[in-house]
Amino acid sequence: MGLLIIGIIFSFLLGSALGSFVHCWAHRLYSGEGFRRHSYCPQCGQLLAWYNNIPIFSYLRLKGKCASCHKKIPQDYFWSELLAGGLLVIAFLAAWCHLGGEEGIWVAITSIKGWLVALQAIIGLVILMLVFWTDYWWLAIFTGPLLIGGVIVGLLKWLTGESLVNMVLGGLIGGLFFALQFWASKGRWIGEGDIYLGIFLGIWLGWPFIILAIFGAYIFGAIIGLLLIAMGHKAWTSKLPLGVFLAPSGWLCFLWGQQAMEAYLRLIGVAN
Ligand SMILES: [Zn+2]
Repeated sequence: MGLLIIGIIFSFLLGSALGSFVHCWAHRLYSGEGFRRHSYCPQCGQLLAWYNNIPIFSYLRLKGKCASCHKKIPQDYFWSELLAGGLLVIAFLAAWCHLGGEEGIWVAITSIKGWLVALQAIIGLVILMLVFWTDYWWLAIFTGPLLIGGVIVGLLKWLTGESLVNMVLGGLIGGLFFALQFWASKGRWIGEGDIYLGIFLGIWLGWPFIILAIFGAYIFGAIIGLLLIAMGHKAWTSKLPLGVFLAPSGWLCFLWGQQAMEAYLRLIGVAN
């Protein structure tokens, strides 16, 4: 039981720190600043002291205001930290269930393979959060992180003994799925960045889970679209890019793709 609590707390702290970093990274990619400067207030430019830069805690303690200029700090700073923390806790709980509880987790944290898989989850989370905090029509500026992330994840998977052919196949399917739509519509349906997101997801999830992730994104999109229409926000539905749904769908497929695929095969009677 102790390990479960420690794992949840550790995952949340690590996730919220990652979320804070990724949110900052997304902003700096847009502005082209890079990371040489320390964290600063988005309103007055004042550099943040370390105790005002602790994820979630500092935001709540300062009630969402800058310690020096007292202007409101945008809420997405807070949400990015909470969301990433929550997602990493979910990943830890998924691993806990997959591995059969405390004993399985011990085996994983004392093996190199366990760490390699955990690193894949962390890189996947960073890349997906980075994509999540964009406005999607500018996804092309994330080409670098998406491709470098894909190569690193591919290397980590290869080190755990996964098939290189499978990753290349996944990357090709993910990339081509969006590339064909991009060419067919001359960039009107989807942006160039979606192609790179497709390649990253394909390498990360592999075949056949990349298909599941794309399929899941359309289902997510349809559900949210219908909800928005039901709530009277019809105009929003035409503005929702697929990338918004690809990120959560990819994350779910990474955590539960195998289980979902097995359940599906049982359902249609191919396996038992
Ligand atoms: Zn300020």
